[in-house]
Amino acid sequence: LLDALVDQIALALERLRLTEELSETRLATETERLRTALLSSVSHDLRTPLVTIIGAAGSLADAPDLAPAARQDLAENIREEGERLDRYVQNLLDMTRLGHGALKPHMAPLDLAELVGSARHRLRGPLRAHQVLAEVPDTLPLVLADGVLLEQVLVNVLDNAAKYAPAGSTIVLAARTAGAKVDLSVSDTGIGIPPAEQQRVFDMFYRVAEGDRQRAGTGLGLAICKGLIEAMGGTIRAETASQDGPGTRIVITLPLFNPETSA
Ligand code: ADP
Repeated sequence: LLDALVDQIALALERLRLTEELSETRLATETERLRTALLSSVSHDLRTPLVTIIGAAGSLADAPDLAPAARQDLAENIREEGERLDRYVQNLLDMTRLGHGALKPHMAPLDLAELVGSARHRLRGPLRAHQVLAEVPDTLPLVLADGVLLEQVLVNVLDNAAKYAPAGSTIVLAARTAGAKVDLSVSDTGIGIPPAEQQRVFDMFYRVAEGDRQRAGTGLGLAICKGLIEAMGGTIRAETASQDGPGTRIVITLPLFNPETSA
């Protein structure tokens, strides 16, 4: 899997070299930099949850007389970190499939209210400390998308909101029609993304550099989201959520399901 990813990076850079006339030496340095970034972020992101799982499983095994509440906490910990690993591996798989053009979305009419519900459920662990408000009108028409992929995107975006916005703050999930399309947005009141970087955060491995942001992460999530959304014929962008604070709003635009053209 990692080899496939490194190959993809080399290919992407080769294309960049052709269009932007990167020199051979620059290309070699960039490939090496990305290879190292990939390997260290993948091993870090796989190991962090594993260390917690092994630790919690060890405590359960070594202390059979633990109080039921403490046992429950440890078991929850194992489940949450296992789910994090699962999301991460899914992202890596999506990325390799995107790179090979092997990702074929299964487009179908989709109810966003249901999808939002199941993404929230999947992320209930990381979202525990936040208030989540879903503003999806009952009257919202169906969109045309691949439910599995869209849920993956929403989970990534919500996970970021939980990661970059303070505990106790509110995350708003909203959907509204805009012509023949639907805007699905996730707004938070966290540290925000500087306007100059709101496009670059969708690049592979791009992370906003700032002391306060040194949280676990790879800079892959949003790049994968962009690939998945574009594969479904949609767009995704980042903007500043409000005038008075930074905060981030990620807006996903998808086509509405039209029974006449989609039949
Ligand atoms: P990461 O694994 O680093 O979170 P992503 O590709 O998901 O990778 O995001 C890229 C970068 O964009 C992050 O490192 C972070 O700097 C910034 N970012 C993404 N979402 C948010 C958000 N909701 N609030 C603030 N910054 C964000």
